[in-house]
Order: sequence, then C-alpha cells, then structure tokens
Amino acid sequence: MLRSRLSASTIHKGAMAVAISLPTTGSPKPSDNKSHHQGQGFKNPWPSTGTLPGLSAIIRARLVGEWRNVDVPKIPSLKVLTPAFGVEAEDRLRATWLGHACFFVQHPGPQGLSVLYDPVFSLRCSPSQWLGPKRVTKIPCEIEDIPHVDIVIISHNHYDHLDLNTIKRLAARSKAPHFFVPMGNASWFHSLGIEGVTELDWWDERDVGIKDESTVPRTGRIGALPCQHIANRWPTDHGKTLWASWEVRSGGKKVYFAGDTGYRHVPKMDPSVDEYAEERPHCPAFEQIGNLRGPYDFAMIPIGAYSPRHIMSSVHCDPYDSVRLFKDIKAKSAVSMHHSTFVLTDEPLLEPPSLLEKALDGQGIPRQDFRSIPIGDSVEI
Ligand code: ZN
Ligand code: ZN
Repeated sequence: MLRSRLSASTIHKGAMAVAISLPTTGSPKPSDNKSHHQGQGFKNPWPSTGTLPGLSAIIRARLVGEWRNVDVPKIPSLKVLTPAFGVEAEDRLRATWLGHACFFVQHPGPQGLSVLYDPVFSLRCSPSQWLGPKRVTKIPCEIEDIPHVDIVIISHNHYDHLDLNTIKRLAARSKAPHFFVPMGNASWFHSLGIEGVTELDWWDERDVGIKDESTVPRTGRIGALPCQHIANRWPTDHGKTLWASWEVRSGGKKVYFAGDTGYRHVPKMDPSVDEYAEERPHCPAFEQIGNLRGPYDFAMIPIGAYSPRHIMSSVHCDPYDSVRLFKDIKAKSAVSMHHSTFVLTDEPLLEPPSLLEKALDGQGIPRQDFRSIPIGDSVEI
C-alpha cells in the first residue's frame, strides 16, 4: 500500500530517500468550497475571527496606555533544561519542548518519524538579528544536538515560527529533513535552494516514507488542518500565504500541533469581567477536527501572547481558550507552548502557565492532562 501511494515523488538526498504520496483530502463537507481561499490569498472564514490586529491598532493601544510596556530586565529567570532525546521505551512517543512553539517529537518504534515543529534557534524572532523581540530564556540546545530529523513542520511564516537562519542550518545537515508548509510557502524555500518541501492546503494529507541505512523505512501520514490566525512577513503581504495547524500519525501515535491560533474574538472590556460570561462565536474548526480526526494521543497548544485581549484574541488563545480548544479536538494529553520565550505582548511572562491551571480547574480537567513544562523538558506518552 505504501509503495503505490508513494509513487508521486521520491527525493534522494545522499543515502536517504524521501517518498511523498499524491495529495489526498479528508475535507469535511463545509470546507469543500475552500471558503478560506480569497483571490490570490487566504482568510479566516468564520465570524469568530472578529477584527484582526493591525499595526495602527497596536500603535494606538501603546500610545493610550492600553498596551503596557513589559519591563524585560525585571523578568524573573526561568529554568531551562538541557534536553535529553533518548526514548526510554520503544512504544512511547517522546515530545521535547525547545521553547516558544518549537517541539521535537519522536514517534515510537523503528518506523516512527522524528518531527521538528516551528524551529527557531536564533536570538531574535525578527527580520534582523539587531532589532526585534529577543529571547528572555536561553536556547536549550543547538540544532546539531538534535538527533536525526525526518520532517520539519511549519505552521506559518511569522518570524517567531519561521526563521531564515534556522531553516538554512537544518537544510545544511548531512541528512536534511523534508519540510511541510501551508499553501503558498514553498516558493520561499525554493528561493533558498531547498527542493525538499511539500505545501498543503487545510484538510489535505500525504503519506510519507523515509528510507536510509536503517533496516525499515520510517513512515507516517501528515495533514494540514485549519486554525484561526493570519500570516505575513512584511506589512504588505497579509494573508498571501496560508497558516495551519497540523496532525502527524506515525508509530501508532496521533499528534496534533495547533500552531498559532485564536479561538474567538472579544471586544474591549474590563479585565475583571469573565470573558466567558457572555456567549460569543468561537472557531468551529476545532470541533470539526476533533470529530473527524480525533481523538489525539498528544497535542501541543499555544497559551501565550494574548494581551491586550481586544487586539490579540482573534489570533492568539488565552489559557481559557486553549482549554476549550483542547476539549474540542479531543486531546488525551497536551503540553503548552508559545510562552516564556519571547515577549510579544503585554501579559506578565509567568502568567500563562498559572492561568492554564485555573482554566483547567474551571473545566474539571486534571492538571496532569494539559501541562506546562520547563523549556528543554520532555514528556513520554
Ligand atoms: Zn503568528
Ligand atoms: Zn506566534
């Protein structure tokens, strides 16, 4: 079965061959019309998006004091562990958080794929290493410390998720990984001379087979899924490329990576008021994902960069949103991400993990099921 489905393309890189199947789609009926396509670009097709954060709204919020300046030198130092990548048991999946939205996931067994998500190993997430948000916690390891990487998955092209220097370093490895990106992003990789890249639309999937000197090929199925966000590298290219959440099935474990996402939009309101006291539309894609593709053994879900809420809520979950998303996709376990690494918005650095515990308690979900772990730490599922 694998051989026939993988006949679409085979890329040879030295001793390694990467086979990618023809696209298949598991699109649910409501998305068959590609309602997220708009002209040459893309949009969020749901009322839950509200108003996307624009530069003028951010500047105005800073000027009128709605966006507080975070005093970076006063941020308490956070524990960062040196990652250990060895899998303790053959039938266990190992997921290691490498800061912000970067995870390295080793699927179980000799056939399990090793997948690196949204790798950023630079000091700043910015077009320049002289300016822009700088890490407030150290990089837990270097790219070269990570054992073989079969696949790199990119959620979208914002600088805190897609870093030029990191991609160049990954592509230069002797066993270069294959890249999976949302629609419209492959040309950026081609411009760097990287041919091993596959772009997918929401709900599309590919079978992957990787053969090197190991006795059995490593195999899996990789799919792009919706989420509520936006993509741009510059002020003029909003929505020109797609953003996505992702799933990977390999080695008997099913994993969901939420990428960067909002859940619903809330207007400007008193911070002491419970946002969920009032009914508002939320992004319906996560329930669809849960019903059509769930349950997931493990999920990586963002919980940070959510304040001020009336500006950021349409594109970034706060922990109360994240816990709803966790339930919607039918995740059995999750680890949080998109916090404690770069200061992108104005909530206190340590707030997201503590709010996550409150949000879990409020929903009656055991804290153990959706954890925040130190950068560099791993979980085994
Ligand atoms: Zn983003
Ligand atoms: Zn982000």
